[in-house]
Amino acid sequence: MVEKVFDTGRRPQWCPGCGNYSILAAVKAAFTDLALDPSEIVAVAGIGCHGRMTEYLNVNAFHAIHGRAIPVAVGVKTVNPNLTVIVHTGDGDAYSIGLSHLLHAARRNVGIKVIVHNNMVFALTTGQAGPTTPKGVKTRSTPAGNYEEPFNTILLALASGATFVARGFSDDVQHLKELIKLAIKHRGFAFIDVLQPCPTFYDLRQILKQKVYKLEKHDVTDFKAALELALESERIPVGVFYHVEKTAYEENLGSAIKRLSSVKEFSKIRLSKLLARFS
Ligand code: SF4
Repeated sequence: MVEKVFDTGRRPQWCPGCGNYSILAAVKAAFTDLALDPSEIVAVAGIGCHGRMTEYLNVNAFHAIHGRAIPVAVGVKTVNPNLTVIVHTGDGDAYSIGLSHLLHAARRNVGIKVIVHNNMVFALTTGQAGPTTPKGVKTRSTPAGNYEEPFNTILLALASGATFVARGFSDDVQHLKELIKLAIKHRGFAFIDVLQPCPTFYDLRQILKQKVYKLEKHDVTDFKAALELALESERIPVGVFYHVEKTAYEENLGSAIKRLSSVKEFSKIRLSKLLARFS
């Protein structure tokens, strides 16, 4: 049972059959299961069809400019580490214009939870090829077939140092909900790439249903095994690829500020007090 408290009451405006509906349902169900307080959640969205998530989630919300959802979320989490900070971003938003932010947030292990709505096409701009569009696919910008190789997003996250790396499929709401719950409970940076069919511009639903399988009996602390799974191409594993707990960026920052405050030259500046004014 999903708590109505996370619902703004606005009717979602996505196309019929869009995978965004299921991602929204999974997020609300995860919040409900974890008994989170809406006032302690911040959702940040980028630009794309996914961007409407912040209209439909009754939590603190910020709709950022294209590719900049992650730096906004990093700012929020840094000044107030007690908040649950969720980033909704699309494949165009996260893997194209915003890619460097994703990699560095992963490397720094900032305790934000990044949910990528990966429909493998630029949908809001009506169907152009993007960084995850498979080779050979015909789109409005590639009428003779896409001649570029797509990113391997799981490999990208693993190589960047992400401490929680998962893939979900929007058609399996229960499974996705469990992944989101694990991500929220994770101490540091969490990344979930969600395969999300876009029936209007690139409908992969039937292919995904045939290829997707759930990861079972996989040691999530085994980095090499995670790399091997990320390289799988015939079938598509979903679930947690990698999960290890390390000190989060904001925790390290807190101790760094304390250390800096004790340095004679900085002691008069009272850094803690200064930063407290922004939290
Ligand atoms: S264009 Fe695609 S991604 Fe956008 S709302 Fe429609 S189905 Fe969903």
